[in-house]
Amino acid sequence: MIVAMKNDATAAEVRDVVERIASYGLNGLDLPGGERHAIGIASAIPPDLRDTLAEILAAMDGVDHVAHVSRKYKLASREFHAADTVVSVKGVSIGGHEVMVAAGPCAVESRDQLFEAARAVKSGGGRVLRGGAFKPRTSPYAFQGLGLEGLKLLKEAGESLGLVTVTELMDQHDLELVAEHADILQIGARNMQNYPLLTAVGKSGHPVLLKRGPSATIDEWLLAAEYVLAQGNPNVILCERGVHPLDREHTRYTLDLSAVPAVKLLSHLPVIVDPSHACGNWRYVSAMSKAAIAAGADGLLIEIHPDPSAALCDGVQSLRLDVFAKLMSELRAVARAVGRSMV
Ligand code: PEP
Ligand code: MN
Repeated sequence: MIVAMKNDATAAEVRDVVERIASYGLNGLDLPGGERHAIGIASAIPPDLRDTLAEILAAMDGVDHVAHVSRKYKLASREFHAADTVVSVKGVSIGGHEVMVAAGPCAVESRDQLFEAARAVKSGGGRVLRGGAFKPRTSPYAFQGLGLEGLKLLKEAGESLGLVTVTELMDQHDLELVAEHADILQIGARNMQNYPLLTAVGKSGHPVLLKRGPSATIDEWLLAAEYVLAQGNPNVILCERGVHPLDREHTRYTLDLSAVPAVKLLSHLPVIVDPSHACGNWRYVSAMSKAAIAAGADGLLIEIHPDPSAALCDGVQSLRLDVFAKLMSELRAVARAVGRSMV
């Protein structure tokens, strides 16, 4: 941390700042410059003191501003963990050489719907079956999901086809129930900054798929991951799903594909892409899926449905099963072209 003093700061003000830093057991080095003093904190600042200390120092007389040298997140950062993290769930690796595809319906609607979609995931070479049982809907009158019934069907389909499962956890009180039925807990975009929920999934140790909030910066997203990691749970998979759009008429969100290489540089965590929620239109999903793998994503989360026109949720953005099958074979070629593999 660097504390930049004002041009007209007095020697007493500089001394007060150095003493205040020392009162926290830290070493503040006075760095006189041409026009003003700066004070550098040479010792490592404990993460839980960082923000408080910055605010205290910024409010002191003679201080112009406080600048951070290292990032706020530690455990999520490559600075502290250089090697890629590979999250392994029941033999499926996310973040390694292989590109992982998770697919399934937006919401579990019925046994037939889910099993038909699950068979398409399996035969297409997908590794993970998605399906919402608790749905975060904008309107309270929209289909909210089948709840426990949906969880049971998801578990049954996953087990009978040998697929890992992922479903959204909206309420920390449902954690045990959801974790009993699904392998990966999805934290939805709307809950990316639900800190009690992040802490709860962190404590649980279960693998977490953390979606980026549509208004969240990359640093905010990585700080959300830090909440989970700080509880001792290293199994975090990040998922870019589109940010608030300029043009809602044509695309539901804007898929921020540049976030993929940016996060890969900043963090060791695996990053996957959800083109379905980003585009909001099935016609764009194949193109953006291929682009995501080319951009270095470790996997995809894709919505598919046996009959999108009859879907209770997100039918417009769901791929028909034959379209999904074609996409999977095209993705294999893209994965190979960028030095990755796919089943
Ligand atoms: C979902 O994947 O089912 C979902 C609701 O996505 P998001 O949280 O990204 O809107
Ligand atoms: Mn959906």
